Amino acid sequence: MKIERNYNLSKLNTFSIRADARFFVEIQNEADLKELFSTPEFKENPKLFLGGGSNVLFTKDFDGLVILNKLKGIEILKENSDEVVIRCMGGEIWHGLVLFTVERGLWGIENLSLIPGTVGAAPMQNIGAYGVELKNTLENVEAFNIETGEKRIFSKAECEFGYRDSVFKNKLKDKFFISAITLKLSKKEKKNITYKVLQEHLEKNKIEVKNSKHISDAVAEIRRSKLPDPKVIGNAGSFFKNVFVDKAELKKLQKNYPDVPYFIEDNFIKIPAGWFIEKTGWKGKKIGNVGVHDKQALVLVNHGGATGEEILSLANKIIADVKEKFGLELSPEVNLI
Ligand SMILES: Cc1cc2nc3c(=O)[nH]c(=O)nc-3n(C[C@H](O)[C@H](O)[C@H](O)COP(=O)(O)OP(=O)(O)OC[C@H]3O[C@@H](n4cnc5c(N)ncnc54)[C@H](O)[C@@H]3O)c2cc1C
Repeated sequence: MKIERNYNLSKLNTFSIRADARFFVEIQNEADLKELFSTPEFKENPKLFLGGGSNVLFTKDFDGLVILNKLKGIEILKENSDEVVIRCMGGEIWHGLVLFTVERGLWGIENLSLIPGTVGAAPMQNIGAYGVELKNTLENVEAFNIETGEKRIFSKAECEFGYRDSVFKNKLKDKFFISAITLKLSKKEKKNITYKVLQEHLEKNKIEVKNSKHISDAVAEIRRSKLPDPKVIGNAGSFFKNVFVDKAELKKLQKNYPDVPYFIEDNFIKIPAGWFIEKTGWKGKKIGNVGVHDKQALVLVNHGGATGEEILSLANKIIADVKEKFGLELSPEVNLI
């Protein structure tokens, strides 16, 4: 384990933003972590745990210690004829875990295929896509208290999962390092193809779902065709969270915009944030080095050489315009550092 100084983070975030960390270290196992806890760099500085950097925006240099999570390993803890319990270390690539499960014919996380980033960051915002969220299969989260160095196991309830949200983003923000998660997956068919885009894709391509890999492949194909690849153009996926409104608010919107799209999820009304961005004329717009993607209004992009401040300033302009036109506040899904 080697602590480096003034480390360039531009290759470690999918926005490809240039920012430097005062101190930087990679941890390969829990022993590294324990050793790190006793160093002055760890004790005396603000800390940032980093996985794939696919949900962060560096708005300035990080005046502290960045800890890159490389904890690896996937193990089957137990299984019976119906279910399998799998423990996965936080530094594994999320999609690698999805492939591990679909290759074994397991059901549960196939709809979450190709979400960038690491397993350890997945509970942070309860990753979700195509009608499924992490919380649907999660059993527990193992995390180290960064003050005491003690490991704690969080049950699903203790994680306080919500839409793109968890206790780790709120009450316990910056207080725990997630080292591993445990999932319970099904051996019996448990397909979820209720999400409209997925359903349409399967029908259009005449795909009969016989195993979870069929869904995983379909989701991967849809995502590749819809979302900009960060290797080609810097971005962090959806920059804003979708918007939840009550019935009265929806009615008010429908008066002026009868075509407003909405989805009912767990008794809540969800409106795609991208719709508000389109309606305020931001889709495809470019300001200097930054812009809004021309096919995905929810995705802010670095056209090359952008600073985090430029992206943030664009995001704030969009928030202000949406607020002025609709009286609603967009909030970032991306973690602003
Ligand atoms: C093209 C694209 C598409 C995307 N699509 C989706 C999608 O469909 N659904 C979805 O939910 N998300 C999506 N995302 C967002 C992102 O992939 C997820 O949020 C992912 O879980 C982030 O993982 P990461 O390892 O890159 O996290 P990072 O960006 O490295 O970190 C994110 C946050 O978590 C903290 N963190 C990271 N690891 C740990 C840890 N081990 N312990 C404690 N804190 C930690 C960081 O400090 C930071 O605050 C997308 C992103 C991109 C670029």
